[in-house]
Amino acid sequence: MTSLFEYAPAPESRSLVDIRPSYGLFIDGEFDDGTGTPLKTVNPATEEVLSEVATGSTEDVDRAVRAARRAFTRVWGPMRPADRGKYLFRIARLLQERAREFAVLETLDNGKPIRESRDVDVPLAAAHFFYHAGWADKLEHAGLGPAPRPLGVAGQVIPWNFPLLMLAWKVAPALATGNTVVLKPAETTPLTALLFAEVCRQADLPPGVVNIVTGAGETGRAVISHPDVDKVAFTGSTEVGRSIARAVAGTAKKLTLELGGKAANIVFDDAPVDQAVEGIVRGIFFNQGHVCCAGSRLLVQESVHDEVVAALQRRIGTLRVGDPMDKNTDLGAINSHPQLERIRELVAAGDAEGAQRWQPEGELPARGYWFKPTVFTDVSPAHRIARDEVFGPVLSVMTFRTPDEAVAKANNTTYGLSAGIWSEKGSRILSTTAKLRAGVVWANTFNEFDPTSPFGGYKQSGYGREGGRQGLAAYLKGDA
Ligand code: NAD
Ligand code: MG
Repeated sequence: MTSLFEYAPAPESRSLVDIRPSYGLFIDGEFDDGTGTPLKTVNPATEEVLSEVATGSTEDVDRAVRAARRAFTRVWGPMRPADRGKYLFRIARLLQERAREFAVLETLDNGKPIRESRDVDVPLAAAHFFYHAGWADKLEHAGLGPAPRPLGVAGQVIPWNFPLLMLAWKVAPALATGNTVVLKPAETTPLTALLFAEVCRQADLPPGVVNIVTGAGETGRAVISHPDVDKVAFTGSTEVGRSIARAVAGTAKKLTLELGGKAANIVFDDAPVDQAVEGIVRGIFFNQGHVCCAGSRLLVQESVHDEVVAALQRRIGTLRVGDPMDKNTDLGAINSHPQLERIRELVAAGDAEGAQRWQPEGELPARGYWFKPTVFTDVSPAHRIARDEVFGPVLSVMTFRTPDEAVAKANNTTYGLSAGIWSEKGSRILSTTAKLRAGVVWANTFNEFDPTSPFGGYKQSGYGREGGRQGLAAYLKGDA
């Protein structure tokens, strides 16, 4: 894309990772081929096949659950909590030591910019293990009852947008609370989970405590519906979340669902415009907009609408879209061809329904899956681009006149995961926040994550919280 400044290429080295031609399932501390038909994972920036990965059948999932049960009953459940904590600390340190390798592998398999995998995904994944390592021997002080007990085996299914980070969000609290896990990564991004399996071996984690079964939706279904799984944790689409809720209903399984979102990012007329523009960009273009809590609906006070939109377009003109391995890249590739098609379909609906589309000048790479950063103005709340989750770099701009109208429009969604507020007045921020039906509200920032802070949704964004003291409750028995 054209840009204000030209930079020399600054590619990260691919030789930091050794990608094997094929990978197996990680069950009971060993890798094996599994009995399903292997799948190929590609680099979405080039369409190059990176590796062939085993697929777990129902029988493979059953072996993994049995290994997890044995490890829970014989080793991990009875272990002194302080000793469990030591394993978690060891995993956290290994993630740090191998951070560059993880970042490069994540970028190759997912398409996200190396700057993000290096500065956000991998450090936050390590932070989740450090944070939960600290909880392992202090659970009776978490306010969840005097002697909280683990549930047993957790079946966990995660999406492709933050492959390693979502793994950390799932595995760290499960292990810290004394559970064992069977985790299924997304079919387009299995590689960092398999590198994590190597880290588990390096950390001498007892076999069966963490099992990783790769595959697509069928494998996920086998994990969540296995009768010997005590806890199901899912992050992904609302549609699949609903089917999981149905499958789990009437069983004793405990369930947490982290689903989609359509967050409002509210800019009041007293907000510092340049700072707000940075937050808008971070809200919707971070990770190509493949973010469940992305600030995809911009609500701007009418009197500053033109000024904010003009500043935003100027800023978007400086974003660098292209090779994710280049350290100067701001927007990488769309994760898969089906996801690109979903984005195109919703953008076409925006055009057809009469919103005004704006995209910066410039060419996209010829190979791979790409979409330009896109801003729609003249959006009405009834438009599909104002209601449906695009899960791509597409912003819908709407206006409001009064604070009450901002709140009404922000809450006019079937989702409720996150929101943002831009204002110089602390009192306005606090009064608005209290009226928003969203699990996370950011003030004068956006897309900030921290393991100490609970994350989760209202309404169709799901239920349960991940992170913080609250996130531990999902993995413990009792009044928790
Ligand atoms: P998805 O929900 O189909 O996939 C998420 C995970 O669930 C993957 O690991 C997948 O293999 C697994 N899965 C699929 N069907 C399953 C089933 N029946 N039982 C158990 N597991 C199953 O999401 P997707 O198709 O990759 O993306 C579709 C849309 O979902 C996106 O456009 C986006 O709106 C949304 N999404 C949201 C998040 C999020 O973080 N909340 C993440 C990814 C996708
Ligand atoms: Mg891939």
